[in-house]
Amino acid sequence: MKKIEHIGIAVKDIEASNELFSKLYGKPHYKTEAVESEGVKTSFFEVGPNKIELLEAINPESPIAKFIEKKGEGIHHIAFAVSDIKAEIKRLKSEGFIVLNETPKKGADNKLVAFLHPKSTNGVLIELCQEIE
Ligand code: ZN
Repeated sequence: MKKIEHIGIAVKDIEASNELFSKLYGKPHYKTEAVESEGVKTSFFEVGPNKIELLEAINPESPIAKFIEKKGEGIHHIAFAVSDIKAEIKRLKSEGFIVLNETPKKGADNKLVAFLHPKSTNGVLIELCQEIE
């Protein structure tokens, strides 16, 4: 893994949270994007070399809706940049981690993504992401 790519935060109202986090970071988000397949609306902030992703559910079946129902708003996942997501999935599987989607899928922000089940990572949902060239 190369570095933390971003930290994902589940929110109930992304418009209100965009305002809140703009005040916190002293600058607005630089993009918003809906990922229909995941049932989410996202927005991204750049904070120095780091990124924060806000996620709001767009339907009740969305994993974000379920997360908020269970745990409330808060940190949802940590995403790591990888250079070869397929190789990384293979490696992590062989190490015993539970990969939620073995075929990488298109995520937000021009990335191929895969998730590791929190059950195999001390309760932390891990996202692997590889920039689409
Ligand atoms: Zn993410």
